[in-house]
Amino acid sequence: MATNLLDLDSEGMEKLFASLGEKPFRARQVLKWIHRRGAADFPAMTDLAKDMRAKLSESAAIVPPVVVGDGTAPDGTRKWLLKVDGANAVEAVFIPEDGRGTLCVSSQAGCTLDCAFCATGKQGFSRNLSAAEIIGQLWLANRALGCHQDGTSAVAGRPRAISNVVFMGMGEPMLNLDAVIPAARLMIDDNGYGLSRRRVTVSTSGVVPGMDRLAEECPVALAVSLHAPDDALRDRLVPINRKYPIRQLIAACNRYLERAPRDFITFEYVMLDGVNDSDAQAKALLGIAAQVRCKFNLIPFNPFRDSGFERSGADRIRRFAQVLQRAGLTVTTRKTRGDGIDAACGQLAGEVTDRTRRSKTVPIAEIRA
Ligand code: SAH
Ligand code: SF4
Repeated sequence: MATNLLDLDSEGMEKLFASLGEKPFRARQVLKWIHRRGAADFPAMTDLAKDMRAKLSESAAIVPPVVVGDGTAPDGTRKWLLKVDGANAVEAVFIPEDGRGTLCVSSQAGCTLDCAFCATGKQGFSRNLSAAEIIGQLWLANRALGCHQDGTSAVAGRPRAISNVVFMGMGEPMLNLDAVIPAARLMIDDNGYGLSRRRVTVSTSGVVPGMDRLAEECPVALAVSLHAPDDALRDRLVPINRKYPIRQLIAACNRYLERAPRDFITFEYVMLDGVNDSDAQAKALLGIAAQVRCKFNLIPFNPFRDSGFERSGADRIRRFAQVLQRAGLTVTTRKTRGDGIDAACGQLAGEVTDRTRRSKTVPIAEIRA
């Protein structure tokens, strides 16, 4: 079968070119064609010798996921539904803001971790995405937004539409690092998307061994889905906490920061009415914040059918933020984006064939108790 060149980071591409008897700079040329200029096939690569283009056509291809849905909300948020095989489709979301544009990518079709408040978790797990299926989301979004630098669609001098990438779509990136790492490397590679290390953020629910591996192999920015100030509540909201409780999670955050000096961890905290949003819980978070260089991002809960949770009121969220801010912490509250197209955090569901046959889901009453 032809090699999908979207699967290869610069090291992989150099290996492929070596096996074809070609020099490493050829690999860099092809990377630039694909990721900077958005080339979809080999005839377009005009500075490669004809016989080499022919050789590539025989052994390789550029195969992104297939766009099967494309919708834009009134606030400009745009969501693509991307078919990755006959049974699964995942979602990628572009969020334009003043001075920057963020692409939210998926790393798995579904998720095994089953957090209580997450639509992706509720639908079960099908499979890991390949590196091509992950970087393909950025490649496709760049194309759709007309910002590959191919001279036909890019407007000269216009800032790049996608300045940031976050792994906050469907799936747990730390459980698919074999594909997430090459994709993240392409994002920060000068011959790829050339984003700075701090503009690529991997979000995790707290898979400790994955955090250690990412620190070692590609220390991009890290967001950690905390969502509760103590193990008793976190065990119920984020079940992976039963395996890696808060104390171990904080230790892993600090090990990560050793590899990423001058960085901080962004703690994400979904605001669930009457569950994790009291002043006392905010104060309890200060104890965690004292142990690790961090800031907080409060995410108003995004409802989905039968979730069993409600979003905290705006005043409650403000008060909660104030408790943290008064203690000197940096706190941002995420604006709710993409209303009407179900494009907000935790609403992404795509189309996933659950292959885990999860037998038991935790009843909501048990979670709220
Ligand atoms: N699996 C990773 C990344 C994907 S989820 C993780 O859990 O971190 C991205 C963020 O959206 C996480 O912080 C997650 O907890 C949050 N989230 C999930 N469901 C949500 C919902 N319904 N409303 C708001 N945020 C949600
Ligand atoms: Fe998976 Fe993240 Fe959703 Fe939890 S919040 S179920 S880890 S995608």
